[in-house]
Amino acid sequence: MSALQYRDIGAPLEIVDIARPTPGPGQVVLQVTAAGVCHSDLHIIEASAADYRFGPLPMTLGHEAAGTVAAVGPGVEHFKLGTPVLVYGPWGCGVCHECSYGRENYCTHPDGVRPPGIAVDGAMAEYLLVDSERHLIPLGDLDPIQAVALTDAGLTSYHAVKRALPRLGAGSFALVIGVGGLGHIAIQIIRALGAARVIAVDISPEKLDLARTMGADHVVIGDSAAEQTIRSITAGRGVDAVFDFVGSQTTAEIAGRVAGTHAEITVVGVGGGAVPVGYRRLAFEASVRSTFWGSRGELWEVVDLARTGRLQVEVETHPLADAAEVYARLARGEVLGRAVVVP
Ligand code: NAD
Ligand code: ZN
Ligand code: ZN
Repeated sequence: MSALQYRDIGAPLEIVDIARPTPGPGQVVLQVTAAGVCHSDLHIIEASAADYRFGPLPMTLGHEAAGTVAAVGPGVEHFKLGTPVLVYGPWGCGVCHECSYGRENYCTHPDGVRPPGIAVDGAMAEYLLVDSERHLIPLGDLDPIQAVALTDAGLTSYHAVKRALPRLGAGSFALVIGVGGLGHIAIQIIRALGAARVIAVDISPEKLDLARTMGADHVVIGDSAAEQTIRSITAGRGVDAVFDFVGSQTTAEIAGRVAGTHAEITVVGVGGGAVPVGYRRLAFEASVRSTFWGSRGELWEVVDLARTGRLQVEVETHPLADAAEVYARLARGEVLGRAVVVP
């Protein structure tokens, strides 16, 4: 079968022909119907040899996956052949304390979380091996191309917003930094779950247009005047919640400076920045957290939210043969919403 692989540190992405996987006990093989292109994949392929802490190479990329059940191993009981599904990506051990709550994203097993496309072969291929039927959720009548980004861009945003929900009541302001795959869904989740007015920041005017379409009340271009603009929108008070989907040093510092008293700052972006924390470094009572993906239960919740029609994922689709070029476009900031590869 064809697969898009990262084969060696620094090597270009390549479409190669590899063996189609067969399911072992408890495992499921999906025929992939859609695979999302996430910015985190760029962090994988841009990592130096010293910083590389992902799966052994060559590795098939793709950690946002939708498919139909094509083969099941012994002991798989709940999914019949042909069932359309979404894949929960942060595969944990399933039995540790965190996993017992469905928070496999924070699995404490020494082997850690082993997502497809990050630790083992992923979804940018015709077929995907899923380690357990526990990691599948029924797609129902949702369109796989529309829904595939819910498994990461949707789930990660949902988890971040849900944690900050006490700060998103009427009269509050939520700031979304970076209106890409994650950010444009996060705006809709804030609108669906809370009553906050949403301020969106991006460096691209097209992304700000998308933010408006998705329900942002205010859009701010991410230049040196952004901080002052955000201050004046909030009448000097600062915002109640910040979701930083860039996470660079620049955006983390802006997040810290525009956060008001009691604000909740969530750093989701993998840009390596740090929010300065200390006495009078932040507004009093402000707190900062970083998050990784979300729980199995939260994936059910965000998919249910999509079933109500309140989440629109902006997608552009591409064949597998063009996947390497799609990553290049993402790196140049040219993808609006989420790019989805359809093998
Ligand atoms: P994306 O490329 O689709 O979107 C990034 C957006 O940020 C773009 O619209 C870009 O124009 C904007 N941007 C870039 N620099 C900016 C700046 N200085 N100020 C304002 N906006 C800026 O990326 P994505 O797939 O949405 O991922 C976003 C980040 O989240 C990435 O770092 C990714 O690795 C990370 N991520 C983290 C998790 C997690 O669990 N923590 C999960 C998924 C993705
Ligand atoms: Zn991702
Ligand atoms: Zn575990």
